[in-house]
Amino acid sequence: MPIFSAIQLRMDLRSLILLLVVSSGLLILLSTLSAARQVQRDALIESTLEGNQVYATRLAKTLEHYLQDAQYALSYVANHMEHSPEAVREATQRLQQQNHYFNSVFRVDAEGRVISIWPAHLQYMEGQLLNTAGNHAALTQQQPMITPPYVSKAGNWIIQMSYPIKDAQGHYQGYLGGSIYLHDGPLQRLIDQHPFQNGTYVYVVSVQGQLIYHPEPQRIGEFAPQNSVVRQLMQGNSGSQRLINTQNIDMLAGYVALPSLGWGIVVQRPTQKTLSSLDMLMQDVIKHIAPLILVLLPLLWWLARSISAPLERLADNSLDMGSKSCIPQLQAVSGWYYEAQRMKQALLLGISATQEQLRQLKVDAHQDPLTGLYNRRGLEKALNELAASNQCFSAITLDIDFFKQVNDIYGHLQGDRVIQTIAQVMREQAKGKDILCRMGGEEFLMLLPQTSLSDACIVAEHLRHEVERHRPIPDQPLSISLGVASYTSASPYSPEQTLTLADQALYTAKRNGRNQVVSSPPLNSEPNA
Ligand code: GH3
Ligand code: MG
Ligand code: MG
Repeated sequence: MPIFSAIQLRMDLRSLILLLVVSSGLLILLSTLSAARQVQRDALIESTLEGNQVYATRLAKTLEHYLQDAQYALSYVANHMEHSPEAVREATQRLQQQNHYFNSVFRVDAEGRVISIWPAHLQYMEGQLLNTAGNHAALTQQQPMITPPYVSKAGNWIIQMSYPIKDAQGHYQGYLGGSIYLHDGPLQRLIDQHPFQNGTYVYVVSVQGQLIYHPEPQRIGEFAPQNSVVRQLMQGNSGSQRLINTQNIDMLAGYVALPSLGWGIVVQRPTQKTLSSLDMLMQDVIKHIAPLILVLLPLLWWLARSISAPLERLADNSLDMGSKSCIPQLQAVSGWYYEAQRMKQALLLGISATQEQLRQLKVDAHQDPLTGLYNRRGLEKALNELAASNQCFSAITLDIDFFKQVNDIYGHLQGDRVIQTIAQVMREQAKGKDILCRMGGEEFLMLLPQTSLSDACIVAEHLRHEVERHRPIPDQPLSISLGVASYTSASPYSPEQTLTLADQALYTAKRNGRNQVVSSPPLNSEPNA
């Protein structure tokens, strides 16, 4: 991958902080929501199971009382029934009409023949032998009983309640019976008194696992022993549980066994309906949190920006560490938190040190280490500046006479001291803007801006005289030879050529016997002298 695109792919600190804060915030939010959902879900399931069992218990009691009352009413009438046909008719009619316990009430003799039946539209059965499961059971058992569900002659699922009738001698005289429709009858009215919501419904099952009542009438009479709740009820157990029913629906069921009737009541609700309120609750929570997140996001962006801004500015400004404005710009960066302040201080220290080193390097590059005067490179720079400003100047070149002897007799160290003495004398004779240079060995050059040839010759003469006067090595006389030349805007020579002229004058001085000043041109022939 090219370096450029690798750099582009790198994220900046602000995006990193934002990513970190937002992703950790979202993670915390999601895990909190998920934990809250789990807790709420368990609580909802628990409370629904408990609620359904409470409902089932209450309903069981009501049903038990209802059937006991019905049985009592049946027994009361049976025990006080006079046996004249009118009295029997009147008793069955009253029982069916007044109490609403039964869909039909009938008096049957010991052979199973209907003596009297009510309501009126069934009276065609009077005098007929009854051929129903309920009749057979009542005649066989000859005691108060409630039958399991069966299909009546009219095609309805019913249960039959009966009470035996005996004469004064205790001989069995048949029974008084009452039928109860399992659908669209008193049982349904009783169960419907309880207003169930959100998919909750009730069914009643017999101890044989047969559905006695179910809100879907076509299922009445169905056997459902494979249902785990039905199985519990068949064993006479009460309780609550989550189950998958025979229709493959996940249900939360509370169930109560009624051993006195051999029935069980189940109140159940689809788990999914129970939990749908949970999803709405979660949506509500998210709706409440969303505005908070919308407020928080810009705040986080601002915070990330405040953290990254000092570092970005420190990085940007330190890229330009060579420039003069770098340090003031770095000082202006606010290090409002500890690390930024430390980095700012470290950068300021580092850049100051680097700038100082650069400055020293620049000086070193233009300076002769032995004398502290300009070297050739320094001269070049000074000469360029002079040429650029188009100033006139004079140049004095000078060379120590018989310097080899000094080295030979006194050694190089002494020779160096002599070189330093010459440099010192040059400094003493120079004015502020004069440029002093060691050209190499024991040869020197002095550039005198705005100075005429004659003035430069006077300076050269002073130099010569001063060197002669100084005696760095007491027993060794010291002299220099000097050449002088001048540059003006009218000069036919360039500044560089002027230096060559001064050099040539120096050689002339050497040739003429040394320890003297020679100018080029000789002073008496200077055009503007
Ligand atoms: P002349 O009068 O003709 O100039 O005679 P001279 O002996 O001075 O001859 P020249 O200028 O050729 O000799 C230069 C000598 O300077 C040669 C070298 O040994 C010596 N020299 C050059 N650079 C240094 C230096 O840095 N230190 C010392 N001690 N001697 C140097
Ligand atoms: Mg020389
Ligand atoms: Mg010399």
